[in-house]
Amino acid sequence: MRRSYQPVGPTVRDGAIIYDEIRATADLPVGWTDEQEAGVYRLKRRDDQALFGYVVGPHSWKRFLHPPARRLWRAEREGSGVRFISEEEKPPRYALIGVRACELRAMAIQDKVFLEGVHVDASYQARRKNLFIVAVNCGQAGKTCFCVSMQAGPKATAGFDLAVTEVLEGARHYFVVEEGSAEGSDLLREVQTRPAAVAETETADRIVAKTAGQMGRTMETAGVKELLYQNYDHPRWDNVAERCLTCGNCTMVCPTCFCTTVEEVTDLSGEHAERWQKWDSCFTIDFSYVHGGSVRASSKSRYRQWLTHKLATWQDQFGSSGCVGCGRCITWCPVGIDITEEVRAIRDNVE
Ligand code: SF4
Ligand code: SF4
Repeated sequence: MRRSYQPVGPTVRDGAIIYDEIRATADLPVGWTDEQEAGVYRLKRRDDQALFGYVVGPHSWKRFLHPPARRLWRAEREGSGVRFISEEEKPPRYALIGVRACELRAMAIQDKVFLEGVHVDASYQARRKNLFIVAVNCGQAGKTCFCVSMQAGPKATAGFDLAVTEVLEGARHYFVVEEGSAEGSDLLREVQTRPAAVAETETADRIVAKTAGQMGRTMETAGVKELLYQNYDHPRWDNVAERCLTCGNCTMVCPTCFCTTVEEVTDLSGEHAERWQKWDSCFTIDFSYVHGGSVRASSKSRYRQWLTHKLATWQDQFGSSGCVGCGRCITWCPVGIDITEEVRAIRDNVE
């Protein structure tokens, strides 16, 4: 905060661990953990005072870099004309605390979308440029995690200023910190530290290795693009369509989903109008509406489009998978649809 950053980190709210502005260590989910399964999320007390002893919750950091709603411009009636007022955004300086390896990978994927295409998103660029990132290597995996399959975790390897591993050993509670940038090193000098002993770094490595062995899910990714391209008519799409509610939860919680729509809002006087950009979901009928109707009118076509985009067409579009294996879409699907199970079902019964 002394360096004019607004710290943002995990905190307990409404029965979940979410990301929000924080001011002190006490705001972190001290002594809390989460229990997750397909369609299940529950907070539980831990028997220690771990600060980062949970997995990931419904929020991802995209809500700070690519906000759910953002005003693009305003228009005011002036005499017989209209005056357009562009939005002057003062980009926030966020210090993100507690970013997991899969989330760093998701940010790198969104960087590609927003910064490396023909159109550069200036708002995202300004927010992204100002970040200070404190990554946390995962000390436990959830039952819906599969970052190891997606080669996205559980250890943060790039894209952070500092990366910490939390160690709880009997009465000892400490952090092994790795420097990832000059700014991270500089900030670390203001904190009481000492060089880590070999035994301490080995303990930190063991924690991450144990987490890697605890993944609740796996996904076979070899040839998944070709598998999906060759199975547009697989009967499994009908099966999943019978369960999918097309609620769009999976897209809202996914740290890589980036689609938006624009909405025009006017007041009753007719003197004032605004254009807003809002998160959109490919599970809505409107999303694929073109002249005369929606291209993807059925829930089968919408689920198939989402899964195929994440794992296959994303590769052609952006050069990587669109999935980092965070497991959020499995946990937060109200009917427990599991992306790993759907891919397995297609793979096991290739037509
Ligand atoms: S897969 Fe689940 S979360 Fe996604 S739209 Fe269908 S019901 Fe909703
Ligand atoms: S598709 Fe699901 S598991 Fe993959 S990154 Fe998105 S929310 Fe996470």
